[in-house]
Amino acid sequence: MSAQYALLLHGGAGVLGDHDYADIRKHLHALGERGHAMLNSGGRAIDVVTAMVEDLEASGLYVAGRGASPNAAGRYELDAAIMDGQTQMAGSIATLTGFKSPVRVARAVMEQTPHVMIAGTGAVNFASQGNFERVESVNDYYRPAAEPDDREFPTGTVGAVALDAQGRLAAATSTGGTLNKMEGRIGDCPIIGSGTWADESVAISCTGQGEFFLRRATARDVAARMAYAGQSLHAAAEAAIGDIASLGGEGGLIAVDKNGNIAHVFNSPGMKRAIVKAGEPVLVDVK
Ligand code: ASP
Repeated sequence: MSAQYALLLHGGAGVLGDHDYADIRKHLHALGERGHAMLNSGGRAIDVVTAMVEDLEASGLYVAGRGASPNAAGRYELDAAIMDGQTQMAGSIATLTGFKSPVRVARAVMEQTPHVMIAGTGAVNFASQGNFERVESVNDYYRPAAEPDDREFPTGTVGAVALDAQGRLAAATSTGGTLNKMEGRIGDCPIIGSGTWADESVAISCTGQGEFFLRRATARDVAARMAYAGQSLHAAAEAAIGDIASLGGEGGLIAVDKNGNIAHVFNSPGMKRAIVKAGEPVLVDVK
């Protein structure tokens, strides 16, 4: 029997009806192929989600990393988180500015500090001490991905969840946050259990109006529904997004469980995503 593995990527909840997503489709497809190859050759879930999110950040096509938009004060404050389901280790950074790959810094928080989350000046100081590529000139580097966007809360986080051939799960999420967010605002993405979660059974990455995901602890809610209520991955994901909707929020999530079941559920108008399964072609969709 060939090894079972699965990988899902998202490029954020919400699409504009008349926008041409050809470049994003192409990018997600190529990245899915790369993830496929990594998992097929025995790559670890934690390494695959790190590499996937780093690429999504660097592409400038999504509201994360290079494509992040400035906050209401005109500054770029980026959030990212990563979690290893096998070890239950997690790392996250919030309101980081000046570094190319927030997810890499989050991973270093996980691996090199006794802490889970570092924010603000401390995050910048921590990243400055490490071997992380800097953004030399803010104005030259950041290319806000957002075309003129008239949605009330335009969103565009990136994320990845993976089950590797050894049965290990991991999740990672990175974002520039919601457009025109207040200075210092932190969304769901870097909060372990809200925007990002992985354990021995399931890995989840969320996108959408973070305030709602924070108030429902959505990522952990999916895991808890499965663990305590015996729900299937799909039922748990649908119910968790249903709760976001009933609060008036909008967004979606990607998830994979230890049996290779996958979920990509959203109540937003679309969610950019790629689906990778062992022995199957990469699927990409935005609607
Ligand atoms: N969830 C992110 C946040 O609230 C935004 C997004 O998903 O695009 O920061």
